[in-house]
Amino acid sequence: MSGDKCFDILNKIFEPKNPQRIEDIKGYSIKYGNIVENQNIIDEVLVSYFKSPKSYTTEDMCEINSHGGNVIVKRILELCLKNGATLASPGEFTKRAFLNGRIDLLQAESVIDIINAKSQKEADAGMKQLEGFLSQKIKEIKQDILDVMVNIEVSIDYPEYDVEEVTYNEISKMLEKVEKKLKTLEKSFDSGKILKEGIKTAIIGKPNAGKSSLLNAILKENRAIVTEYEGTTRDTIEEFVNINGIPLKLIDTAGIRKSSDEVEKIGIEKSLKIAKEAQLIIAIFDSTKELSNEDIKILELIKDKKSIIILNKIDLKPIIDEKNPQLKQFSNSIIKISALKNIGIEELYDEITKLFGLNEINLDNEVIITNVRQKDLITKAIQELEKTKETIKNKMSIDIISIFIKNILEDLASITGESVSEDIIDEIFSKFCLGK
Ligand code: GDP
Repeated sequence: MSGDKCFDILNKIFEPKNPQRIEDIKGYSIKYGNIVENQNIIDEVLVSYFKSPKSYTTEDMCEINSHGGNVIVKRILELCLKNGATLASPGEFTKRAFLNGRIDLLQAESVIDIINAKSQKEADAGMKQLEGFLSQKIKEIKQDILDVMVNIEVSIDYPEYDVEEVTYNEISKMLEKVEKKLKTLEKSFDSGKILKEGIKTAIIGKPNAGKSSLLNAILKENRAIVTEYEGTTRDTIEEFVNINGIPLKLIDTAGIRKSSDEVEKIGIEKSLKIAKEAQLIIAIFDSTKELSNEDIKILELIKDKKSIIILNKIDLKPIIDEKNPQLKQFSNSIIKISALKNIGIEELYDEITKLFGLNEINLDNEVIITNVRQKDLITKAIQELEKTKETIKNKMSIDIISIFIKNILEDLASITGESVSEDIIDEIFSKFCLGK
């Protein structure tokens, strides 16, 4: 419970073994006792006390730790409600933390990112944001712009000094600096999007090349962190796997599985459809056989895509290898594996991380944007900046330029939530789960 009545409500339902006046209980302490209704003990509990302003929401807060199970928890919840509490809406705790000024909007959004993270790196990026690294970056950029504004105000206030020429130059220079910083942030979204959504990956190859064996090798190793998602069409399944902390979203894994024990194997046509959707194609070939016409058709599919060629079954007697000129024409990444014996799978993972520049993501000294709302506002700020540069080039009056610059500031302020409409705030927090 959070809010100024929370201790009153608690006192009505909680009997500590060692009663104390609420004023004498220190924040960050835990008391042991019973939750009681009409002298009946509902459960034996521990209650944690947090006193304003030192709590998640900055309000007075308490947390009741009961025995688990639906019945007990529901009874305690109902008891709280009966005594004056109201049920929190999704995200309300974090929303209060934001509205009460303990965290900004960027940090609030990172809470949901951390909760929903599908990979370690995504969670790390969220944690960085919760610590305030992105907020700090945006603050820095805003300060740069405010410095520009100061320059402008001077020439508006003292038009008799002929400072305009100097001002134009200086504003331009400062805006360049700001633009560079904003563009770096915008660019980080390329990696951020991958961390958040996963790399859409297709495994294609002729029947019997070893698609389902490779899938199994990948899934077996990552079994604990595989999540199944309904694909876009009824019978496709997409699965998330974590590769070196980066999520791969494997497309049509159901199709691959099915193909191994059914007469109808994945044909070229289906491969074409899957390949079109994918950001990464893993094309797998049987290294114990010469390349067939069908193989060449598969190679054609990967021509203009990020792709890795896999030569499978190297535990047998391979007759083609990575030096094969036909293969080299189609992809720079050729890896030899045995899906059955689990050889070369690590090399495949390393190649994927390399291909997407993901081993360069260093979360220690880099801020990565993973959130579309934030990215869109940064893009908008960059567009405003371009317009501003245009007004300077056209030697528009300083007053007009200052209006454009204020627009940039506004976009930045909505990123951190200093100026943002109530609708947007409601929308952001509605994505949270209850009780967060
Ligand atoms: P798919 O039709 O492309 O999905 O191919 P499968 O994964 O079903 O494999 C076809 C056959 O090749 C199966 O009998 C597998 O056991 C076998 N196979 C797959 N990978 C290897 C490998 O690396 N080494 C060996 N020796 N056999 C393999």
